[in-house]
Amino acid sequence: MSTGEEAGIVIIGAGQAASQAVVSLRAEGYEGRITLIGDEAEPPYQRPPLSKKFLAGEIGFDRVELKPAEFYAGANCALMLSTRVSAIDAAAKTVATSDGKLIPYTKLLIATGSRVREINVPGFDLEGVHYLRSVGDVHDIQSHFKAGAKLVVVGGGYIGLEVAAVAKKNGIAVTVLETADRVLARVVDPIVSKFYERIHRAAGVVIETGVTVVGFEGKDGKVTGVDSGDGKIFPCDFVVVGIGIIPNTELAVNAGITVDNGIVVDEMTRTSDENIFAAGDCTNHPNGIFDRRLRLESVQNAIEQGKTAAAAMMGKDKPYNQVPWFWSDQYDLKLQIAGLSQGYTQAVTRGHPETDNNFAVFYLKDGVLIAVDAVNRPPEFMMSKLLIAQHAKLDPARLADESINMKEVAKA
Ligand SMILES: Cc1cc2nc3c(=O)[nH]c(=O)nc-3n(C[C@H](O)[C@H](O)[C@H](O)COP(=O)(O)OP(=O)(O)OC[C@H]3O[C@@H](n4cnc5c(N)ncnc54)[C@H](O)[C@@H]3O)c2cc1C
Repeated sequence: MSTGEEAGIVIIGAGQAASQAVVSLRAEGYEGRITLIGDEAEPPYQRPPLSKKFLAGEIGFDRVELKPAEFYAGANCALMLSTRVSAIDAAAKTVATSDGKLIPYTKLLIATGSRVREINVPGFDLEGVHYLRSVGDVHDIQSHFKAGAKLVVVGGGYIGLEVAAVAKKNGIAVTVLETADRVLARVVDPIVSKFYERIHRAAGVVIETGVTVVGFEGKDGKVTGVDSGDGKIFPCDFVVVGIGIIPNTELAVNAGITVDNGIVVDEMTRTSDENIFAAGDCTNHPNGIFDRRLRLESVQNAIEQGKTAAAAMMGKDKPYNQVPWFWSDQYDLKLQIAGLSQGYTQAVTRGHPETDNNFAVFYLKDGVLIAVDAVNRPPEFMMSKLLIAQHAKLDPARLADESINMKEVAKA
């Protein structure tokens, strides 16, 4: 049944992109109704701390939520939490919710994010096998945080390694199992992988690469071990699986909107339906700097697309076209990444990753800077972000030379 309420802007998904869109819609001068529908119980919150300070118990939810709940009331935004959108009717311009409501819209923003990729092996449903996407997941994982407990992390990506670092600091025995021959294989050069393997091993984390998990063993319904298929069982009290995400695009597909590795949008976040926009992890968008389409999983992407979508819904063009950036915190190390390193022809190291805890790796393609991984090196990160946008051609020898500061390197 229709709620009978006036139509306005409806946002599906109450996460990072959605929260930004509410803020930006009001900043752009939109005075109509906003309805924010999210299937989680909490108002929009940041996910990065879930594998960092919030998992470590160093900060509470008040430091994770994007805006206090009162903000939405103050912004005249109806917040429908614990409510799932089950369908979009693009012709009728309504969305249907899990509790049987039909909500009309003038413009619709799909900001449904992504969900974890599940591991489909025997024993996947044993108690103690966890994923990490939500605040609830953090609480489940924390319930195992007892000194001496054994954790196996499946997947040596950012989330797996961040969880390993926090768990280790909490006195847990941690083993990381990674299918590839090195951690972070999908995203960084072997120099950086080797560095993180060294750091984790020095902290006492066991890292096993080239290991493909084929099942979980259990007793009384609880996980007790991870089977790597070569006769080896890794004993554990709990498991955290971090093997990637899947964009939530099903609503768009069923509404007839074009989807191709994410909801296809233009640089203004417009989908193939003129009244429907999409922002964040669920999208596939063009990037003019790299001259290709991207599906990104990052806070920056969600925030910037949220801003662009708000402007576009108001009929204003604020194209989203930036150098992608990301970060990861492990122990006392801040890794900052700018650009996209795929297709690089040369990796140049500044500093000594074999021995030190701060360095940068620059990725060049035919001499042009396309990406940087900077560990505890904010100047290298900041300068590279600018240089990548400018397609700067740089001298590798000067980049590697620590006696030349980054401003001077940029001038050459
Ligand atoms: C543990 C963790 C650590 C991370 N660390 C970093 C980091 O260090 N740096 C970084 O840049 N990024 C990081 N990310 C990624 C970043 O958090 C995401 O890219 C960002 O949250 C994406 O924002 P979004 O708005 O697209 O999606 P989300 O913030 O995920 O919001 C989408 C919301 O939509 C809801 N939803 C989905 N379908 C429906 C439906 N049908 N009806 C109603 N609601 C629905 C979802 O439940 C969710 O609440 C991390 C992610 C995780 C999980």
